[in-house]
Formats: sequence, structure tokens, C-alpha cells
Amino acid sequence: KKLQFVSGEHELSDKLRSYSDVSGISLGIVVREYVSLSHLHKQYFGFPGEILMRMLKLVILPLIISSMITGVAALDSEVSGKIGLRAVIYYFSTTIIAVILGIILVMTIKPGVSQEAENIDRAGTTPNVTTVDTLLDLLRNMFPENLVQACFQQVTSDRKTLEGFDLSVMGGLSFQNITREYKIVGAYSDGINVLGLIVFCVAFGLVIGKMGDKGRILLEFFDALNEATMKLVQIIMCYMPFGILFLIAAKIIEVEDWEIFRKMGLYMVTVLSGLAIHSIICLPFIFFIIVRKNPYTFTLGMAQALVTALMISSSSATLPVTFRCAEENNRIDKRITRFVLPVGATINMDGTALYEAVAAIFIAQLNDYPLDVGQIVTISITATVASIGAAGVPNAGLVTMVIVLTAVGLPASDVTLIVAVDWLLDRFRTMVNVLGDAYGAGIVQKLSKRELERMDLISDVDVANPF
Ligand code: ASP
Repeated sequence: KKLQFVSGEHELSDKLRSYSDVSGISLGIVVREYVSLSHLHKQYFGFPGEILMRMLKLVILPLIISSMITGVAALDSEVSGKIGLRAVIYYFSTTIIAVILGIILVMTIKPGVSQEAENIDRAGTTPNVTTVDTLLDLLRNMFPENLVQACFQQVTSDRKTLEGFDLSVMGGLSFQNITREYKIVGAYSDGINVLGLIVFCVAFGLVIGKMGDKGRILLEFFDALNEATMKLVQIIMCYMPFGILFLIAAKIIEVEDWEIFRKMGLYMVTVLSGLAIHSIICLPFIFFIIVRKNPYTFTLGMAQALVTALMISSSSATLPVTFRCAEENNRIDKRITRFVLPVGATINMDGTALYEAVAAIFIAQLNDYPLDVGQIVTISITATVASIGAAGVPNAGLVTMVIVLTAVGLPASDVTLIVAVDWLLDRFRTMVNVLGDAYGAGIVQKLSKRELERMDLISDVDVANPF
């Protein structure tokens, strides 16, 4: 379904996106130079962008619930047999490697930390919370005691008071201000306990998938909800170029600290080097260990698909080319590609996962928001899940990014900053997503050699044209 929803509009919206980024920057610079706006007028100027952010946040809840439940339930029936299982193990492990790589890079390069701030010892502002507490809180959040409450939760920690405030009765905004200054474990300022909902939806999806006929009614319901939510996202995508134009312009108008450009540059370097390391070292290494063939010849065989991905920033729309390259140049069996590539295009997004983890930590660094172990683990989990939930369409990672930020209580409005450079990063991460799927097909083919041979023996399937 995601595939149908993709094609068609992407070329137009892709062009519009690039235009809106460039025009947003130009409009911002012109207004900044030649028009003097009052504080109120600046706010009006940012209004179309504010509406975009509100719409993105609005779809988080139905998006998580419907895509997780239907995804997991479908996995059970579609991914039957060892071939499917191997593909899923490959998808998960490479995505997690990508996330860890991203986190290591962003914590080392520290693109969002001001040069002066790096030397300041922040230990004094952090209350005495141990790592064990943090991890316990993480687990607590994974199992919300009340599902409805998890949708607009404020505090999930047992330590509900800080300096005499009863945090549980404070509103979202004031609460957020406090979390910026003090570290409160397990605090969710944007109101949704994302992790708790994800755990519930995965379990629920698994159960529905196994219920047979009875479960089908529920599955159809969530399937329809998923389709409807995707249509809504599609509508938001149409508004996106306009919203982005004003988001960027308004941001440029209010920039006081030009250091932000240095930081954005470093942020891009971090994401791009992560993507490069993952696609030039990590994936080829895994491929070589398992397949024992030259991984770079394999990459070369995929060149046309990679260039297409770079041009249109959509792994789903690149799919036809990915198929051709994998089957014709790299000689992968059609029985493998027909499963591994389309499922991979929707759920296996190493590039997106890496990018989301880096972006979330970058935003935390920009806000001087110290992250503890629990929050970093949360970012890893939600970035993985958010990449699975992202459709293979342009900018999808940006939409699901809000989930990651919400999960650790970071201001979702800061997506504004990374929106400005997303037209470029999106292209490269899509390329890595496509490459990851292709390597996956090669690896699963090698591991499933025996099953394939057995299938050839029992059935009369024409190997060259099994479908
Ligand atoms: N554009 C990416 C893809 O199609 C998804 C994303 O935005 O990260 O693979």
C-alpha cells in the first residue's frame, strides 16, 4: 500500500521541496536585510511553518498505532519460512549497527555543541540520578500502566518532585522548561509515551497476527486506519513545501547566533560520514563475511539504482531499477528479490535510522539538553522503529523524526533547523537504504541456497522465471 501511495507525485513534490528550501533561505535573507519586522510580525511570518509542525505532531499517534500493529501482524503471515526470517534478522541487525554508528559519530564530533560550552562542566546542574535508575525508568516507560494515559503522559518516573514542585501537576510547557535545566529521568514533555505505545502495539500486532480469522476483523480495522493515516500524511506532504518555505525563512530572520551555520555544516558532515562508513565499510564487510564475494563489484552492479535513489530520494520509487540491477547485474534469484527488496524498501532503512539518531542527539546538543544512558537507548530504539515506520518516500524520515524527539522530550519544533538541509541528506540516506536492501538480497540468497535448491527439486518452477 505504501508503494501505491508513493508513486506519481514524488517527482513534482521533489522539485517543489528543493525550490522551497532554496526560496525559504532567499526569502529569509531578503526579509532580514531589507524589512524590519516587529516581534509580532515575525511570529505571523512563521505561522505557516507552525501549522506544518502542528500537523506533523497530529499524525504521530495514529501513525505509530496503525503502522506498528499492521506491520507486525503482516510480518507474521508474509514472512513465513526461513527465508523471511533471515531477511528480517538482516534488516534489524544492520539497522541497529547503523544507529550505533550514528550515535558514536555524533557523540564524538558533537556538531551541536558550542565551542565555549564544551569546556563547561555541567555536572552541578544534574541531580544525582544513577544509571540504574535511568534504565529502570526506561523499562517503566516501556510498560505504561494505562494505555490512554500513555497518549498524553507527563511524568513516568517515580521521582515526581524536584525542588518542591509536584511535576505531575505541571503543564507541558513549563515542564519542558524545567527539564532543560535539570535532568529528570523519564520525563516526556511533548506528552506521548512513545516507547510504551510501541511496545504495546508490537505485542498487540503479534497477537492479532496469530489469531487467525477472529483477528482479521481487527487487522482490517488497523489496516484501514493505516491507509487513512497515510493519506493524511500524503496531504501534509502537499502542504510541506509551503510550510517548509516559511519555516526556513522565519528561522533565518530570527538567527542571532551565526554559529548555527557552523553547527549545521558539522551536522551534515556527521550524517554524511556515517552514511559513507556504513555503506563503504560496514555493509560490505558483512556481505563479504557471509557471501565471500567482492562487495564492491556488487555495489557497482547496483550503480544505476543508487543514482536513481540519489536523484528521486525515494526507495519505493527506485524499486523497479533496484530489481533490475539486482537480478540482471548481480544475478540474484527472483524468488529472493521479489520478497527481500519490496519489504526492505518499506522497513529496512539503515540510512534513515542513522540519520534520525544523529539528528535527535544533534538537537539535544543544540538545546544544551544533557542525555542520559536511558535516553540514548530510547533514541536508538525509537530511531530504529521510526525508520521501519517511515515509508520509502521523500522526506518520510523527517516526519517520523518527530517520534524520536517526542520520546525523549526534545522540542519537536527544532525539526525546523534540520528541515533546511534535508533535501540533500534525504538523497544520500535513500541511497544507503537502497544499497542495504540490495546487499540483504545477496546475503539472504547465499544463506538460503539449500532451500532454493530444494524448491527447485520439488516443484517444476522455471528457475529463470519463477513467477
Ligand atoms: N527518502 C527515504 C527513502 O525513501 C526515506 C527517508 O526520508 O528517510 O528511503
